[in-house]
Amino acid sequence: MAERDDNTPEEEAEFWPNYVPVPPQFHSFMEEGPFAKCTLCDGALLEDGTAYLIHKAFHREEVIFEYAMCLPCRAKMQGELSVESIEAINAYMEQYEIEDRTGPMMEAHGTDVSRWLSHCLVTGAPIAEAEEYHYYAFCDGPDLVFNGLPIALAGNVDEELNELLSQKTRDRLDGFVDEQFGLPPELRNPIKGSPVFI
Ligand SMILES: [Zn+2]
Repeated sequence: MAERDDNTPEEEAEFWPNYVPVPPQFHSFMEEGPFAKCTLCDGALLEDGTAYLIHKAFHREEVIFEYAMCLPCRAKMQGELSVESIEAINAYMEQYEIEDRTGPMMEAHGTDVSRWLSHCLVTGAPIAEAEEYHYYAFCDGPDLVFNGLPIALAGNVDEELNELLSQKTRDRLDGFVDEQFGLPPELRNPIKGSPVFI
């Protein structure tokens, strides 16, 4: 505390470790442990320096959807979506200044991932009261990195995001879900339209 005077809040934040071993919230339900490979290309993920995203969707306590996506696959995926859709999503998410939350969240909650996920980023509603919700994290090898993510979104936010997407993009994302997950039809509707490319 004594040496804080010269530091801006941003600089202080850098004194916190900004990563932790991937916590259980972001383990793979299917693999019963950390995601070891990219869901799309099977590329290995657990070496340091391998960046990837994790998205898990829940219906109450139950995992209904999960994937880990390496950055090359993400870039490929984004390349197939319409520019307008990506811009609309980015503009929508920019309102919430995801990257700017890292410093204040670190100060308030440290690296307690459950606190980072306790409320919907967009609505502020408690996730514990949401029927459906989504968790997102950015990881590097065996670690989860705090870079604005991890975040939680309540299910109804998806619908808003979905309305921003062009038909072409919706079709592509629906195809992605069908190809990757082969989900039973009753589970598809809540999942389709998830913002898979944050
Ligand atoms: Zn991949």
